[in-house]
Amino acid sequence: MKALAINGGAGRMGQILAEGLGASGQFTIGALVDAREPSRLFGATYAASFEAVDAATIDVVIDFSSPEGVVTSAAWCAAHGVGLVIGTTGLSDEQRRVVETAATKVGVVIAANYSVGAVLSEKFAAMAAPYFDRVEIIELHHDKKVDAPSGTSIAAATAIAAARTHAGLPEMIDPTQRHTLAGARGADTIGGVKIHSVRLPGLVSHQEILFGGPGEGLTVRHDSFDRLSFVQGVALAASAIDSTPRLVDGIDSLI
Ligand code: NAD
Repeated sequence: MKALAINGGAGRMGQILAEGLGASGQFTIGALVDAREPSRLFGATYAASFEAVDAATIDVVIDFSSPEGVVTSAAWCAAHGVGLVIGTTGLSDEQRRVVETAATKVGVVIAANYSVGAVLSEKFAAMAAPYFDRVEIIELHHDKKVDAPSGTSIAAATAIAAARTHAGLPEMIDPTQRHTLAGARGADTIGGVKIHSVRLPGLVSHQEILFGGPGEGLTVRHDSFDRLSFVQGVALAASAIDSTPRLVDGIDSLI
């Protein structure tokens, strides 16, 4: 059974991961590392910094902290031969290079989305893409989300466009001739895949990829209802990684 340390262990994701991964039967949670004390420990030891963690007791560090926290985790893991799973987003190019350097010393997984359903829906969409004439994406999020469209929908559009190009299909041209209201046809992305963004209170994170062909349609829908949706993907990454140097970018190769 692998022993984990969670950097950002007092945070929203850190607490959910400590509970979910600890209950999975695959891992023990050795330490919750965070500048502030976690409200719940789930049997782990609290450490205000990595200096207080005995590296000999930890197999993998899970980092859901901040970009600065990732730099600390990467240096500690590389120095002590401990695998690293990174969920923290917003890394600068320089911080990303620190991660890549760590991956020459130990195994590192870095992914912008640990939701297995979201990753699978992108794979299914890429499979379907060559067989339909047109495809459009609707992404729906809570009204606190400040950016649009979502990074996940752009990644899906890119994967669909690549699959269409690979199949020798031309870029999709919007058949609409007259725009009575500007914006009605959504945002244009790569390959002519349109994205429509919906923002409403009560929503969490949802996406529909709609395909249309002669006489049939196909909808690939994914819903994230809760941060619990990330636990399974982090578990896959923590199981796959160890001290052997390598960089795994995204969890699709682990599914
Ligand atoms: P949060 O603010 O609730 O928690 C972050 C925690 O990290 C806090 O407790 C904070 O004290 C701690 N922290 C910050 N800097 C630190 C440092 N240098 N050293 C130690 N601890 C530090 O945030 P959250 O909602 O839990 O999200 C955390 C990160 O995970 C964000 O970057 C978020 O975008 C990312 N995230 C990624 C995924 C994914 O699938 N990849 C999913 C959800 C969230």
